[in-house]
Amino acid sequence: MIDIRGLTKRFGHQTVLDGIDLSIEAGERVVVIGPSGTGKSTLLRCINFLDRPDSGTIRLSNLGVDAKAASRADILALRRRTAFVFQNYALFANRTAKQNIMEALVTVQKQPKAEAEKRALAILAETGLSERADSYPAALSGGQQQRVGIGRAMAIGAELMLFDEPTSALDPEWVGEVLDLMRRIAERRQTMLIVTHEMQFAREIADRVLFMDGGRIVEEGPPDAIFENATDPRTRAFLKRVR
Ligand code: ATP
Ligand code: MG
Repeated sequence: MIDIRGLTKRFGHQTVLDGIDLSIEAGERVVVIGPSGTGKSTLLRCINFLDRPDSGTIRLSNLGVDAKAASRADILALRRRTAFVFQNYALFANRTAKQNIMEALVTVQKQPKAEAEKRALAILAETGLSERADSYPAALSGGQQQRVGIGRAMAIGAELMLFDEPTSALDPEWVGEVLDLMRRIAERRQTMLIVTHEMQFAREIADRVLFMDGGRIVEEGPPDAIFENATDPRTRAFLKRVR
């Protein structure tokens, strides 16, 4: 469903992604773990060109994009099929919860306003936020803001949802409700690529865990294999530290 070949990204002299090959099946839930600064966020950001990769190809169903030759139309097409959930929510401060969810539906998908509003209200109900539809982000808790962020990503019906540490900016009291929402999305077999430090959660929902270090995927496998029987010393050292 998504097929990434030879993805590389440099910032100045530093190679941050060093030839990433990764295929994800439709409905697969893949979790990425690894030390700070190893390129996890950059990988997610390069998949939908929030950061432009230097080389490599990204194929999403029938859409193939070569990093070196990507046109604006290619990038837009890729972004329409992927949805990004940010660590810091990245909501529009001057828009309500409902308007935040409607935004991409109206501006990117060109849905009529009434239709987008209906969809946003349905999503708010699913995320348990119906009562907060007209609240601005500043009036919402961190957990509620992130649920709006996830709702916005759900609304566009993307083939692939990308989550970059969606709970790591939250006070501990709000982490559970956000993970619960992600569990519900995972149960629908939404294709998900998730960077997280929530190891227990990763274990529960991942079909596959990738361990990244130094811009490469060092080791990957089913959660039990990685968490119990990692073979690479770097994976073992990392897991020892985070437990
Ligand atoms: P963390 O666990 O701390 O979020 P990460 O694995 O997500 O780390 P990245 O954010 O992908 O790591 O960063 C990988 C490397 O690329 C780091 O050394 C970082 O400083 C560098 N980097 C990331 N974005 C930029 C940028 N826009 N300009 C320059 N360097 C960058
Ligand atoms: Mg990161």
